[in-house]
Amino acid sequence: MNFSDNINIPLRILKNPNIFFYLLNTIKSNYFWTLNMSGRQSIPPVVKKKLRSEVGFGCPVKGCGNPYLEYHHFDPPVNIKPHNDPEGMIALCAQHHKKADGGAYTVEQLHNLKKDKFNATVVKGNLDWLRRDLLAVVGGNFYFETPKIITVDGVDLVSLLRDEDGYLRLSVNMLSCLAEERIIIKDNYWENVGFPVDLRSPPQGKELEARYHNGDYLYLRFIELESFEKAQKRYSTNIFEDLSFPVTAVEVSMTIAGTSIELTNKSSFLGGLQVAGCLLSNCDGGIVIENTGISWKQNPKFRHEMLVEKTDHENVIKVNFSRR
Ligand SMILES: [Zn+2]
Repeated sequence: MNFSDNINIPLRILKNPNIFFYLLNTIKSNYFWTLNMSGRQSIPPVVKKKLRSEVGFGCPVKGCGNPYLEYHHFDPPVNIKPHNDPEGMIALCAQHHKKADGGAYTVEQLHNLKKDKFNATVVKGNLDWLRRDLLAVVGGNFYFETPKIITVDGVDLVSLLRDEDGYLRLSVNMLSCLAEERIIIKDNYWENVGFPVDLRSPPQGKELEARYHNGDYLYLRFIELESFEKAQKRYSTNIFEDLSFPVTAVEVSMTIAGTSIELTNKSSFLGGLQVAGCLLSNCDGGIVIENTGISWKQNPKFRHEMLVEKTDHENVIKVNFSRR
């Protein structure tokens, strides 16, 4: 079986839970499914790019500028007609997307936000920190220009890749030992959040904090370090002597409840091993933990929804195994 292909499986087979779960279990964990069940095609990358760039890569609502965006269909709304026409869509942050869904803005206001080049330029200027060299500060260690900051069992928990315009794009996949929804952010785009007891994503996008009832926790904070002196003072180390400033630092703390993986701003506890004070530069991966033997259970519903798509044939659904 080639996992990069679409596979059509008769529904009667998938209705048999034993066979269905056998099929799921035969898929290695480093494959991931990428479909949606909304009846609408997923938004093409070229449309996302157009929407992001027309608002200056940040939420266009006055005073916001949050770079973590969602895409709002408003002219017409998707419940009237499913579409991915960029003329009737706008990129907004999660908070303002919710407001837009609640009818806070008129169609005309949203069209004006799309057209307002001055606003887009202001938003873009406020996000210059996303174009600087990146110093990740994770569990008391430092990773310079290292895009995949934390990888566990082949899953990139936190990664920051640059788009063609040089802006850092944040991707987050939280792991959990519970079969519950956890955060998924892909290239600054919210795909899933679940039900955190606490979620903070303030305007400008410099912080992101999520806490779940079982203790799963993630905190990201971006800090602009204008000079070596500022970095030295903040982290009490001379380790940055060879870096050229300014840089943007991202501080990451993470706990996966029920495991021995705990990354605080001071040190890393990984299976009883404690590491701190190292600087890695220009590596592909920062913290890489493999073969934990833990059975990760997060996002079961999300995985299932992304796996299966209806087809024109009543009793056939399409299952897409595409490489992550
Ligand atoms: Zn906003």
